[in-house]
Amino acid sequence: MLSVIVPAFNEQENIANTAEVLTGILAENSIEYELIFVDDGSRDRTWELIEELTEKNPSVRGLHFSRNFGKEGAIFAGLKRCEGDCAVVIDCDLQHPPALIPKMYKLWQDGFEIVEAVKSSRGHESLLYKVFAKSFYRIMKRSSDVDLDRASDFKLMDRKVIDALNDLPERITFFRALSSWVGFKGAKIEFEVAPRAAGTTKWNFRKLVKFALNNITSFTNFPMQIITWLGVLFLLFAVVISVYSIVKFFCGQSLEGFTTVYILILLSASVIMIGLGTIGYYMSKIYEEIKFRPRYIISEDTKDKKNKERNIAE
Ligand code: UDP
Ligand code: MG
Repeated sequence: MLSVIVPAFNEQENIANTAEVLTGILAENSIEYELIFVDDGSRDRTWELIEELTEKNPSVRGLHFSRNFGKEGAIFAGLKRCEGDCAVVIDCDLQHPPALIPKMYKLWQDGFEIVEAVKSSRGHESLLYKVFAKSFYRIMKRSSDVDLDRASDFKLMDRKVIDALNDLPERITFFRALSSWVGFKGAKIEFEVAPRAAGTTKWNFRKLVKFALNNITSFTNFPMQIITWLGVLFLLFAVVISVYSIVKFFCGQSLEGFTTVYILILLSASVIMIGLGTIGYYMSKIYEEIKFRPRYIISEDTKDKKNKERNIAE
């Protein structure tokens, strides 16, 4: 059985259509499936629509978060609760073409354990978004050797991969990078990013910056090393200046040079502050991790509800 995991946050315009397209394609190719919608604490009618679907189609299951925990949480909740021999994660807005699922499924049947759909182009994005995305991917690639430039969350995974991901103890997760970090025999398949079917993007600038910082610090200690190098650079600088002022002192011109002092104080203070900030950022992440808070809280699962109803009926 194939589990199709669809994270959805305020997607009321898309739910019905997406479900129809997905079930149509899966039925057409006679793939046995379960369709799991993970409602990431939507504030619109998303959850009601999902519940309606589960009434109509027994292969549809809905998970409802108690609040918005973010797409990462939604993906991992789906992976934890899915029951398929393999699972595919796909966006709710049909930007990931569902027509590829049968092809990915075929590759899985041929023995590939993780089938990634990579973007052949990045679709329509604003210039600012492109610049940010590019620099984020460059930092990730340089410092942790995970190449994500064309990667997406559209992936089909074997049960082995799902179990490996579920066994990861960390809380601050980055699905796209972790799924390649776990390894396994993989295949890639290309796709064109389609425009959003309906509604608007659920990300905003603040969310994206947080996402990028989280992921960079999850995968690399590179920012901390920058500080060390800056420190070394400043030491060299300081040595040069010291030699210069001592020479000046012996020449009897020591009153000059206040500018140098100001510059040095300002520069070193800023480096120290950047350094402390970076260390603080990592410390806060360590703190987040050791709190062992759950990544998400599920307030409703349509499957539990159905089981309960059945029990009462029996
Ligand atoms: N999403 C989510 N929680 C969030 C933000 C987004 O579950 O906090 C879901 C959203 O419903 C969609 C997918 O993640 O199914 C991708 O989001 P979106 O299309 O807004 O992102 P983009 O395609 O613009 O990167
Ligand atoms: Mg989208």
